[in-house]
Amino acid sequence: MASTPELQHTVGKSAGFTGTALHTGERVTLRLHPAPVDSGIKFKRKDLQDEPTIDAKIENLKMVERATTIGEGPVRVHTVEHVLAALWAMGVDNAVVEMDANEPPIGDGSAQSYVDLIRKAGVTAQEEPRKFFHVRDTMHVESKTGTLIILLPDEKFRISCTQAGPNNQFSQFFSMEVTPAVFEREIAPARTFVYYEDVKPLMDKNLIKGGSLENAIVVRGEAVLSKEPLRFSDEFVRHKILDVIGDLALVGRRIRGHVVAVKPGHATNAELARAIAREQTRRSAVATPRTMPSGDGGLDTDQVMQILPHRFPFLMVDRIISFETETKCIGVKTVTINEPFFQGHFPGHPVMPGVMQVEAMAQVASILLFKLAKTTSRIGYFMSADEVKFRKPVLPGDTIFIHAELTKSRGERLAKAKCHCVVNDAIVSEAELMFTFLDK
Ligand SMILES: [Zn+2]
Repeated sequence: MASTPELQHTVGKSAGFTGTALHTGERVTLRLHPAPVDSGIKFKRKDLQDEPTIDAKIENLKMVERATTIGEGPVRVHTVEHVLAALWAMGVDNAVVEMDANEPPIGDGSAQSYVDLIRKAGVTAQEEPRKFFHVRDTMHVESKTGTLIILLPDEKFRISCTQAGPNNQFSQFFSMEVTPAVFEREIAPARTFVYYEDVKPLMDKNLIKGGSLENAIVVRGEAVLSKEPLRFSDEFVRHKILDVIGDLALVGRRIRGHVVAVKPGHATNAELARAIAREQTRRSAVATPRTMPSGDGGLDTDQVMQILPHRFPFLMVDRIISFETETKCIGVKTVTINEPFFQGHFPGHPVMPGVMQVEAMAQVASILLFKLAKTTSRIGYFMSADEVKFRKPVLPGDTIFIHAELTKSRGERLAKAKCHCVVNDAIVSEAELMFTFLDK
């Protein structure tokens, strides 16, 4: 008998609470709102003009120092891992987390206040099934500081974690299946712990104005300082698991696998989340082979984007204006002052970097190659660029015509292309490029 698919969930109604922001020490109100299927978790900055939102996705990760920061454009939200852990572990797939500051209230340093809030809002099923990431092959990430995280295939989402402080003090181990009940009972109450030596300089610089023994356990040598006694004898490792859950929530899919984490930290957690997202992208690309547009007409931007994986700001072809033969085509790119590279290349004297022109040539040549191979199931790797010449500067407002011609292809794996870029009927750059093709 086929089991019914697990459905996505959101919060039943809006609910909020007010507390202190860790870094600024200011009052902040956080409110959870229901959100439609497939929208994931979004943070909303109610204190900013137009109330911008940020998707809690690994692509938006900005910083992993001490806490996890995500952002889009200039907008940031800090210390998102505990609220994300609570939402994810309590089964909330879609929600808007609205705040009137750049970080959530720290509560008591654990995920307890968020779990209480989710309980208040309720959790309700939606119409669409959940999206999963099933681990097929073992993956791992490690750092020079002794962190190792392994992800193994498993029917459930499990985390086994070991934690050890300096000189292997406070060595702890905890293993669990991540379910709402286990999370609420065993993990949510575990508070943040910090080493005195790490926070002393921050306190001196007034960078954690909201930090106190009410929202963190401070470890100083062998002493454990906190307002209330330890909630679990192994509270530290449990909090580490809390952080792992929160950081891996950035994957945006329910993981079916066993995370084995040795001394995990935000940086390696994020690295694993990134590796999972990459693997998912690879799988999705293989699963849905795209049909190549046929014929000799050009390609519009949509069609170009169906062929090339590149996106703004790295998509350097707006469209293909014509395929002259099987092995020859012309692409076009309008260069505007809004291109991100002009900001620093150079302030007050914007010139398009030569390497970006080579990239544009490579992208047009890849389109030819994919068209010839009638598939996009391979990835073209740029091997070499010879005879590169930059003849004239390309400026904002210029329209570049990118000519590419395949000169050699050995089997289906290796190809050479002769390319040049033209602006106002003059060649501005040229190069001979070589590619190799590997299956995705
Ligand atoms: Zn934490």
